[in-house]
Amino acid sequence: MNALPQSHERYDVAIVGGALAGGATAILLLRQAPQLRILLIEKSAAFGRRVGEATVEVSGYFLGRVLGLTQHLNEAHLVKQGMRFWFFNARAQSLPECSEIGGRYLSRVASYQVDRAVLDQEVLRRAQAMGAEVWRPASVSKIQLAAGRDQALEIRSGEQTGTVVARWVVDASGVAALLARQEGWWRPNKAHPTTAVWSRWTGVKDWDGLELAKKFPDWAMACHGIRSTATNHLVGKGWWAWCIPLKGGDVSVGVVFDQRLVTWPENGSLGQRLKDFLIQHPVGREILADAQWREGDMHWRKNLPYYSTTVAGDGFALVGDAAAFLDPFYSPGMDWISFTTSATAELILAQQRGEALAPLIARHNRDFARSYDCWFQAIYQDKYEYMGDFDLMRLAFLLDVGLYTLGVASQPFKRGGKALTEPVFSTPPSVPFFHFIRFYNRRFAQIARARRLTDQWGRSNDCRRFMFQGYTFARSSIWPIAKAILSWGGLELREGWRSWFRKGHEAAPAQSSPAAAITQTAP
Ligand SMILES: Cc1cc2nc3c(=O)[nH]c(=O)nc-3n(C[C@H](O)[C@H](O)[C@H](O)COP(=O)(O)OP(=O)(O)OC[C@H]3O[C@@H](n4cnc5c(N)ncnc54)[C@H](O)[C@@H]3O)c2cc1C
Repeated sequence: MNALPQSHERYDVAIVGGALAGGATAILLLRQAPQLRILLIEKSAAFGRRVGEATVEVSGYFLGRVLGLTQHLNEAHLVKQGMRFWFFNARAQSLPECSEIGGRYLSRVASYQVDRAVLDQEVLRRAQAMGAEVWRPASVSKIQLAAGRDQALEIRSGEQTGTVVARWVVDASGVAALLARQEGWWRPNKAHPTTAVWSRWTGVKDWDGLELAKKFPDWAMACHGIRSTATNHLVGKGWWAWCIPLKGGDVSVGVVFDQRLVTWPENGSLGQRLKDFLIQHPVGREILADAQWREGDMHWRKNLPYYSTTVAGDGFALVGDAAAFLDPFYSPGMDWISFTTSATAELILAQQRGEALAPLIARHNRDFARSYDCWFQAIYQDKYEYMGDFDLMRLAFLLDVGLYTLGVASQPFKRGGKALTEPVFSTPPSVPFFHFIRFYNRRFAQIARARRLTDQWGRSNDCRRFMFQGYTFARSSIWPIAKAILSWGGLELREGWRSWFRKGHEAAPAQSSPAAAITQTAP
């Protein structure tokens, strides 16, 4: 650890939080302006394991090709094999009877399953090797902002306190969201009350091992790729769970649920409640039969989504979770890090070059506010109504993933890292796509509500297998999207029309005390 500084040391940039968002910002800045004096202040003495373990195509590009970590990712983490979804209903009694959505072959574009304790340490090490100064363990307790001048940071380490000044402060403090809370910009996203419970587990069965292949030979033969290194999602009414394998054999397993739709079990330790909850699903029963959560690594968080009303000004910027959090479904967290850190580095470099800052800051705030709003409304709002229903999720999977692949993930591959300075849904060409995605997402939620009222919800959740060939950036990938739109049209004509003009299919009301058991009894 570096000793705390003498008072009023001056830096060009002080970064609060040395995990992925903070370390990445330092690397992006130093790569283009190695003369910058950058200070990284990290609270923890060593990174613990944390969620944020699955990358998708944008974050895979960012880590591999922008930060240059491909070799590290190959050596210390796992190559991810896309997403798989497992559905169940009363007729599905065993793993092969559960309906499945996933790739038949290996994935087409690189993404990874990462151990964040290892990854974040490597990113921080590289930032330090490039010239960033790191103080650790040290915690920023207060930031005094001064537009266009030097910012002052109060720093504590044990009994010591000190002050540094920097032209820029970058808040990468994660969910602590130091600056947003201090300045009163922090807002909960009350339209999306979700809770997560998670841990790392030992003894999770090998999806591709001989035991399951012997027990369920046809099931094993149906996939020609690798199931175990996918993000396997177990889904149910109002909830989804992830199984993410980590290098070395542990598996990250956790659940996220909509507090309006799920009553969380009340008795037992948090680990036991998580296991009890997951083994209601036949896939959970099979895969977790001999599994044990790691004591001391059991976590929960209620009311997940939030945002900051301001993400940048002349002298400060918020990156990663310090700026906002949406939902872990589809793993957008590290995409958000890719966009916020790339755009922030550009903003700071523009000021260093002497460019007029006011219009850039106005655009930065507008783009990220728009991105958060549109991303939420298009993809996540009321998604939990239908994500456990095979028919509806198959269509959403094809449309969401297809449009993301062609419209978002392809951009950095075509235009380079510059594409990451334009957050999702912030550009004019994305506007019709936003309306289209929001529209079908709302229709699926409405059809799901109607299905629930008539006991039709989840009727295809057993004995269906949708094994997809995978999207690429080629134009031919438009066809599966077009087919999904036609299937959706068919669904509307068969049953959707009943809910076109009918009232009474509104979102589920909030339960009086959602997930109260967690709040009261969790450690
Ligand atoms: C249940 C769940 C599942 C998720 N799954 C995924 C996934 O599969 N894929 C994905 O991409 N994203 C996922 N995410 C999101 C992901 O975890 C975050 O987006 C990501 O970890 C944020 O990284 P960060 O660097 O912004 O913040 P963090 O990783 O939280 O790091 C913040 C750092 O700041 C330090 N710090 C805090 N306060 C101070 C202070 N005052 N002074 C100094 N240092 C400080 C902390 O010690 C910490 O090291 C998930 C989130 C949740 C809740």
